[in-house]
Amino acid sequence: MSAPLVRPLTVYRPGDNELSRRLQAAVQGDVLFDRASRGRYSTDASIYQVEPIGVLIPRSHEDLRAAVDVCRELGAPMLPRGGGSSQCGQTVGAALVIDASKHLREVVAFDRDAMTVTVEPGITLDALNAWLKPHGVWFPVDVSTSAQATLGGMAGNNSCGSRSIAYGNMVHNVLAADALLADGTEVRLGAEARIGDAPPRLRGLMDGLRAIADRERDEIVRQVPKVMRRVGGYNLDAFHPQSERPYTADGGVNYAHLLVGSEGTLAWTRTLTLKLAPLPKHKTLGVVSFPTLYKAMELTKHIVALRPAAVELVDRTMIELARSNPAFRPIIDGALVGEPDAILLVEFIGEDAETPRRTLDDLVALMGDLGLPGQVVRMTDANEQKALWEVRKAGLNIMMSMKGDGKPVSFIEDCAVPLEHLADYVDRLTQVFAKHGTRGTWYAHASVGTLHVRPILDMRRDGAAKMRAIAEEASAMVREYKGAYSGEHGDGLVRTEWVAWQFGARLTRAFEEVKALFDPDGLMNPGKIVRGTKMDDARLFRYPPGYAPVKLDTALDWSAWDVHADPVTDTVTAPGTGGDPAKGFAKAIEMCNNNGHCRKFDAGTMCPSFRVTRDEEHVTRGRANTLRLAVSGQLGPDFASEAVREALELCVSCKGCRRDCPTGVDMAKMKIEFAFHWQKRHGLSLKDKLVAYMPKWAPWAARFPFIVNLRDALPGAARLSERIAGLSAKRTLPQWRNDTFLSSRAALAANADRPEVVLLVDTFNNYHEPENAHAALRVLQAAGYRVAVARAGANDAERSRPLCCGRTYLGAGLVDEAKREARRMVEALSPHVAAGATVVGLEPSCLLALRDEFLVMGLGDAAQRLSTRALMIEEFLAREQREGRLKLPLKALPQKRALVHGHCHQKAFDVLNPAVAVLKLIPGLQVEVIESSCCGMAGSFGYEAAHYDVSMKMAELTLLPAVRAAGDDTVIVADGTSCRHQIADGTRAGRPREALHVVRVLASALDPAAQEIRVSAAS
Ligand SMILES: Cc1cc2nc3c(=O)[nH]c(=O)nc-3n(C[C@H](O)[C@H](O)[C@H](O)COP(=O)(O)OP(=O)(O)OC[C@H]3O[C@@H](n4cnc5c(N)ncnc54)[C@H](O)[C@@H]3O)c2cc1C
Ligand code: SF4
Ligand code: SF4
Repeated sequence: MSAPLVRPLTVYRPGDNELSRRLQAAVQGDVLFDRASRGRYSTDASIYQVEPIGVLIPRSHEDLRAAVDVCRELGAPMLPRGGGSSQCGQTVGAALVIDASKHLREVVAFDRDAMTVTVEPGITLDALNAWLKPHGVWFPVDVSTSAQATLGGMAGNNSCGSRSIAYGNMVHNVLAADALLADGTEVRLGAEARIGDAPPRLRGLMDGLRAIADRERDEIVRQVPKVMRRVGGYNLDAFHPQSERPYTADGGVNYAHLLVGSEGTLAWTRTLTLKLAPLPKHKTLGVVSFPTLYKAMELTKHIVALRPAAVELVDRTMIELARSNPAFRPIIDGALVGEPDAILLVEFIGEDAETPRRTLDDLVALMGDLGLPGQVVRMTDANEQKALWEVRKAGLNIMMSMKGDGKPVSFIEDCAVPLEHLADYVDRLTQVFAKHGTRGTWYAHASVGTLHVRPILDMRRDGAAKMRAIAEEASAMVREYKGAYSGEHGDGLVRTEWVAWQFGARLTRAFEEVKALFDPDGLMNPGKIVRGTKMDDARLFRYPPGYAPVKLDTALDWSAWDVHADPVTDTVTAPGTGGDPAKGFAKAIEMCNNNGHCRKFDAGTMCPSFRVTRDEEHVTRGRANTLRLAVSGQLGPDFASEAVREALELCVSCKGCRRDCPTGVDMAKMKIEFAFHWQKRHGLSLKDKLVAYMPKWAPWAARFPFIVNLRDALPGAARLSERIAGLSAKRTLPQWRNDTFLSSRAALAANADRPEVVLLVDTFNNYHEPENAHAALRVLQAAGYRVAVARAGANDAERSRPLCCGRTYLGAGLVDEAKREARRMVEALSPHVAAGATVVGLEPSCLLALRDEFLVMGLGDAAQRLSTRALMIEEFLAREQREGRLKLPLKALPQKRALVHGHCHQKAFDVLNPAVAVLKLIPGLQVEVIESSCCGMAGSFGYEAAHYDVSMKMAELTLLPAVRAAGDDTVIVADGTSCRHQIADGTRAGRPREALHVVRVLASALDPAAQEIRVSAAS
């Protein structure tokens, strides 16, 4: 046996003190060696979990350099990381994980004429493309994780996008890289012709690489797959290209290409210079329906000959999944011809409008020639196209949201085969799945022969054995078809053992030499690409055999997650039968597959705390991982631990993840469950008690408002309240009123017999802003509805106390108290529901609790029935309008524009569109939505001194700038009590702005005749 090329490492244990101490002295960035932080960095989007020694979040390149020096001196391995969205385990390992995504994300240089940009590695693709858009260019390697994938990670994995047939992979688009070697040398790698006089270390590296490549030339020709989608091993074929697509424009060698796809095993990429493309000006989309998946795959090669920018597959399962979603159904139905078994989305692009239109015609003609006349739906409208692409993405997400222990596992997800064999490959692999008692759903990049498929496996039981068996059979087919075993996602832990299989013993040995040239001490991301472990080494699994959560008596009902799902028959067992000792809570947490989508920064809500902190601890994924580790005892015996509390501290319970997370991780609900266990064990603070029991003391406060309001009137009182109760002195608190809505004559008079509408007025609108409730009553009555105001039921022991949804109790984890309130509500409203009335509310966080939290409190069928009849007032009005029943006499307002900020729960339940729809009923009013995430107030969160800064940062991201920019002709609309307060607080210093509830705007637009009604109703 020959001597090892890479020197063995000093063995480091997780949490190593010496390394931590040295780093803290050497860097300005965060040095995270605590157990929970290491736990959060022990996984990526793969099936693996390996605890790192520690984590460093470098603040600058100097930090990075210092860290590399310390690691070298101590012999500690390093692992570069971006978004951590790798599917093969590239970013997990027993090393110091260095995460560049927080601070190292600048655009360093841009040359529009040369069509190049230079970036730091931590910038995400979406951020880069948003930056480039005004210049009419983009970086076209459009990975579907564009929101969270960093350019450093994309280069590390040699990533590929849907449009790779037009633009190539990363390797085709990286022009140069500044790299830091583990020995501390900084090198600039790029086109050989441009390097000139290289310093000795770089010269040695280049000469060494060329010598290896030239020596292995024949082997490279023999072993490297000729397909474009090949991302395994090191890119030695940069010297003797084997890809269908040239790596460089002039055919020369580019040394940066050795780093591309090297998975952080060779050097640290400090900057990347990238080739840009003009933004496509015109696009068309042809959607071809096929009777069978086989036919679709068989004909792909003919379609590719038309030179489309993308050919993407959607199979029958995904079509059905998309159809099961009411929002997607019309879009997908509009794209189908008949009942196809598969569709191909074929995109054409062009500088002029005519070219993509013509090629779309060619596609129609081609399909006719191929025996499928009339099977193409032509889409030329950009919005229509965008909507369908969204469906294609969502289909994958729904597939990932499968409940139970069996999950779609990524390990042969990106094998690439030449197009002429695609149909046979799909057919045979489907049979292999069936043989092993599973199935897979096919989707993605037909154009380049890379079809994604994830068989459903249960890694806690027989998953590993099936994984090996399926991988063996799939690989045999890939070899037979001369394809690439890794066509998109790289090697990592799952495929390093297959490098020798793919490239042969000689090239594998050559790869070790490459590694040794760059990193002789083996410090960079050990165990990936060379010298790896077995793919089915169960010690490295996130869910190894025997994995079990601790026993937990949960406060909420999580049984819907506690099921077994059969991948073949698609059947799911009854709730509560899945065998989860944590009664389904653990399985709900396990829905997070670490894809990292919660790190996005687009228009959606998820995740406001990450948007301002950029910390893994404060993102949905980090929280889900912390909970998973805690509920499985990996953070110690105590589930209600400080580490979990800290991770959940900045979660504003916005429910953004409930809607935006592909697998529906509902952190707001999980936070309630945790808060329940926390308060049981640790009790509650004075502030928590004050806020939680507000519904109890509110009637008293309304009787003596001048006393309670002294807090904001008496000098020094606010500061005292900060010291005693932790309520920020920088905030005013909502003012208490004694002219509450429920005690008003109008409300007492609104007691219609057999009401059509029951108006549910919450604590906040009743005690703090009764004018909103009055406005609601006026609007409903003006529209001619028989209205009753909701009040406690006849048998209620606290009959005089207003109804309450229990939200403030839930926030503190007082689930039993919340249940009591919920029961009062259900009992009071059930007779109305039984009589066919609709319950309408004003405050999103209260009303929508009836459709959400009430259903997991064990309140039975009555709660279920109530949930189907509980609507926000704007939902009710919009529905009535849609169904032609709404007669609301509205006149134009003095303001011409309405700017709407959606409450997070409103967005999570898709209630923002109805608000926009009813505002549009006001003649001449132009309605726009602010693309905002959470306002930052989030119930009591923003009032707390500890959260004031984070709260204001959240508001300053987009909401407050948009409000400040609005002119006097604009009315600001916000349905959330706390959102309105945040807007008032945030604009107080400049031009104060008041936001109004949507019903206030409607009420002020009621025409004079209707206002008459109001006066008579109120008197
Ligand atoms: C749902 C889903 C869909 C996906 N779709 C696609 C797709 O369409 N196309 C595709 O190609 N991939 C896809 N992926 C895989 C993954 O998202 C991409 O490979 C992505 O580019 C990785 O980016 P990242 O920032 O998360 O990198 P990370 O996962 O953090 O890192 C990737 C690799 O790069 C190395 N690295 C990171 N930064 C540096 C640096 N500064 N210097 C040196 N090495 C570094 C890391 O060590 C690691 O080996 C998908 C993954 C998921 C979960
Ligand atoms: S929380 Fe959701 S979006 Fe975030 S990583 Fe987990 S599954 Fe993905
Ligand atoms: S509820 Fe909101 S803040 Fe909390 S994790 Fe989900 S998206 Fe983030």
